[in-house]
Amino acid sequence: MKVEALENLKMIKESARDFAEAHIRPHVMEWDESQHFPMDLFHKMGKHGFLGVIVPVKYGGVGLGYQEYITVIEEIGKVCGSIGLSVAAHNSLCTNHILMFGKEEQKQKYLPKLASGQWIGAWGLTEPNTGSDAGRMRCVAEKDGDYYVLNGAKNFITHGKSGHVAVVIARTGELLDSHGMTAFVVERGTPGFSGGKKENKLGMRASETAEMIFDNCRLHKSQILGEVGDGFIQSLKILDGGRISIAALSVAIAKGAYEAAVQYSQERQQFGKPISKFQAICFKLADMATKIEAAELLTRKAGFLKDKGETSTTISAMAKLYASEISCQVANEAVQVYGGYGYTKDFPVEKYYRDAKLCTIGEGTSEIQKVVISRQLLKK
Ligand SMILES: Cc1cc2nc3c(=O)[nH]c(=O)nc-3n(C[C@H](O)[C@H](O)[C@H](O)COP(=O)(O)OP(=O)(O)OC[C@H]3O[C@@H](n4cnc5c(N)ncnc54)[C@H](O)[C@@H]3O)c2cc1C
Repeated sequence: MKVEALENLKMIKESARDFAEAHIRPHVMEWDESQHFPMDLFHKMGKHGFLGVIVPVKYGGVGLGYQEYITVIEEIGKVCGSIGLSVAAHNSLCTNHILMFGKEEQKQKYLPKLASGQWIGAWGLTEPNTGSDAGRMRCVAEKDGDYYVLNGAKNFITHGKSGHVAVVIARTGELLDSHGMTAFVVERGTPGFSGGKKENKLGMRASETAEMIFDNCRLHKSQILGEVGDGFIQSLKILDGGRISIAALSVAIAKGAYEAAVQYSQERQQFGKPISKFQAICFKLADMATKIEAAELLTRKAGFLKDKGETSTTISAMAKLYASEISCQVANEAVQVYGGYGYTKDFPVEKYYRDAKLCTIGEGTSEIQKVVISRQLLKK
């Protein structure tokens, strides 16, 4: 890595860490308990550049790459997984979809607002009956002159209620035709578009997850991202990048849990000595540290390939699969190191344990990552 790139990385790491300590850490449990999505915090994060890390400077972003983006997600996610998840969904799903596939006017209109945190973005692919099997979606956009009339619902959408703008993928062609889906950019306040049920979740509780409902919502053809029929293929490309951010988030949660466990194991005394002196405990720490190191290397490699512009489908899926699975294992062991105290809300590890699980589900489950990886391997 060049000296300038290393300096950028160091600067953004310190800036994200300081921000998370000052503005997120003091509120983590309060937001978690009340399921409060802190919109004001997002406006503040925008001012620090965390919501436009990969957006070019000419559109109001910071103009950096995936290495820096991974670093931001790691520093924020280490303090609060929910905020890390929302930053990831905003940056690599909604914003990146407009950046990668939007027309110049669309980029000029939306990217500065999204990169500055003035607006928060959502991205809707999942529907109540079609999650892993997204190609079978039922949300339909029917052509009517220069307009498309959108009907249906998207669920489990990060910022589905509060997002100011959403990228929505809907059917414009035949069922099961991978070229039968189109991506639209839809602003909140458009007649026929509303937020529905907000989910009450196990973890990631400060990240809003809600339904988006479309009832005869008329969208002008200028709201299409890219070409008619390209929406599904675009989504797969967006998920290649998005999965790197979920891998980074998984590493972040694992690091948070591990660091807490290391500290506690040196403070907690049983049988006249710190519990870290018991081999059963320090071997757990050794396993946790090794898994985190491996997951981070895989995640960084995926980011490196993405920055080089190489296809990263397999490595992104591998990073997401491995990092999310070890994140759950590490958080589980952290609770074990804390014993009974780990099971209470007075200590941070129960939250890491709850938050980590989402990483094996969002942006494609672990099983789907194996489908993606094995398909790529067998194609060769
Ligand atoms: C907190 C949260 C935030 C989210 N944010 C967004 C968002 O912003 N935008 C968005 O579009 N979506 C979002 N999602 C949706 C998420 O991507 C889906 O939940 C996920 O893709 C799984 O879909 P599903 O829940 O319908 O599960 P299903 O697809 O019903 O899967 C159920 C089980 O069956 C398994 N399974 C399914 N198909 C196969 C197969 N072919 N082979 C083997 N096993 C299989 C799955 O792995 C899983 O274990 C979010 C979800 C959550 C919980």
